[in-house]
This record gives sequence, structure tokens and C-alpha cells, in this order.
Amino acid sequence: MGDRWILAAACGVVAGLANVVGGWLAVSHHGWDRVRQSYFMAAGAGFLLAAVFLRLIPESFRLPQDHHGPPALAVGSLVLMGYLLVHAAEHVLVGHFHFGEETHHEHWVEPVVGTTALIGLLLHALLDGVSIGSAFLVQPALGILVAVAVFLHKVPEGFTIGSIMVSAGRSRRDAVLSAAWLGVATVIGSITISIWSGLVAYALPLAAGAALYVAASDLIPAVNETKGIKMALVVFGGVVLFFATESVLEHLGL
Ligand SMILES: [Zn+2]
Ligand SMILES: [Zn+2]
Repeated sequence: MGDRWILAAACGVVAGLANVVGGWLAVSHHGWDRVRQSYFMAAGAGFLLAAVFLRLIPESFRLPQDHHGPPALAVGSLVLMGYLLVHAAEHVLVGHFHFGEETHHEHWVEPVVGTTALIGLLLHALLDGVSIGSAFLVQPALGILVAVAVFLHKVPEGFTIGSIMVSAGRSRRDAVLSAAWLGVATVIGSITISIWSGLVAYALPLAAGAALYVAASDLIPAVNETKGIKMALVVFGGVVLFFATESVLEHLGL
């Protein structure tokens, strides 16, 4: 395990702080440019998709060969489970949820809706942390790559829960606090898997499936809400950013 868990925890803390910034932006008088937020979500989606398909899923299948992990069929099942787990958390218990600013105020009469949305996002944030921690266990460079991928959607994530809370009639303090809880869940996720590192062969495919959900089912639909071709192209920009980051890490010898 070495000192990788410190790196994983540090990245978890940075991502968690981005949640708090997002929550604060949702309640601040200055507001946050919706367009700028969408750029983050679009680039984050592209970056995360590249990380899932090019690194997390292949590594999930490779990992059991070194460690005594699950067979290939079970790895596939774990990826699917990770995906469905986030879907269940965000959409089965929760009446209405989507990434980005909550603008459908008609749905948000009951304050309890804010609580169910928070519970759903807490599981999502926990798995964000698990993906960072698992990636660091595989290779420090992969950890940094996944941390960047996760970081890109953390401000919009904090913003999402903040604006849901405000729409549900909660106080601004509650809104920022909810975003902070998402940050705490992220840190817990990154540290937990570092402690139980023997489970990484199971945690990595689960986190890969969860990350796929975040990219393709949370972020992409939110990106598509914005009219015009520009935002859609930023998704490809995110993929380019992934390759750029990967080659920088390679040159640094990580
Ligand atoms: Zn809505
Ligand atoms: Zn997230």
C-alpha cells in the first residue's frame, strides 16, 4: 500500500473541496454562468468516458491475473452492477433528479425530495472516491488521471445538490452543507479502498461501471440540454484533454 493512500486521500480532498465550491456557487448571489458550468460537464464527460473505456475497464480485466481476483465473467457483472447501482441510487428512490441546475421548480414542493436526492448523490460521490483510490492502487499515474476525470464534474455536482436544496425550500446553509457531505463521501471512498486494498480487483470494475454512469447518463444528458453544436464538441475536447494529460504523465515518468 505504501504512501499511495495519502495521494488518493489528497486527491479525494481536492475533489471534495470542488463539491463545496459548487454548492457555494449555487447559493451565492453572484450565481454561476450556466454556460461555463456546462463546459465543465462536457469536458468532464469526454475525459471520464476515455478514462473508463481506455483504462478502467481494461485494467479491471487485467488486474485479476496479477492478484487472485474474480474471473472475466464476474468482472463484466461488476461493471454492470456499478452502473445500475448509481442508476438505482439516483432514480429509483428519488422522484426527480438530473445533473446541472434545478430549474423545474414545480417538482420541488416537498423538502424531503432534497434529502432523497442527497442520499442518491452520496452513493455516487462515495464511488467517485472509490474509483480514485482503486486507480491509485493500480498505478499512481492512473490515479492522477482518474482524479482529474472525477474533479472535472465535482463543481457541477456540488452545484447540482445545492440548487436542488434551494429549490426544495431548504436554507442556503443546508445547501452548502449538503455539498460538503458529498465531499466527505468522496474522501471516505478514496480512503476506504486504500485500507481494504485486497478488494481492489472487485472495487475497480464496480467503480468503472459507476464512472460510466456518471459520464454517459448524468453528464451527457445535461450537456445535451444546451442548444448548439459548440457544447457537444467540448465533449471531444475532453477526450483530447485525456490524451494530453496521459502523455504529460508519461513524460514525467509516472
Ligand atoms: Zn429538474
Ligand atoms: Zn461525481
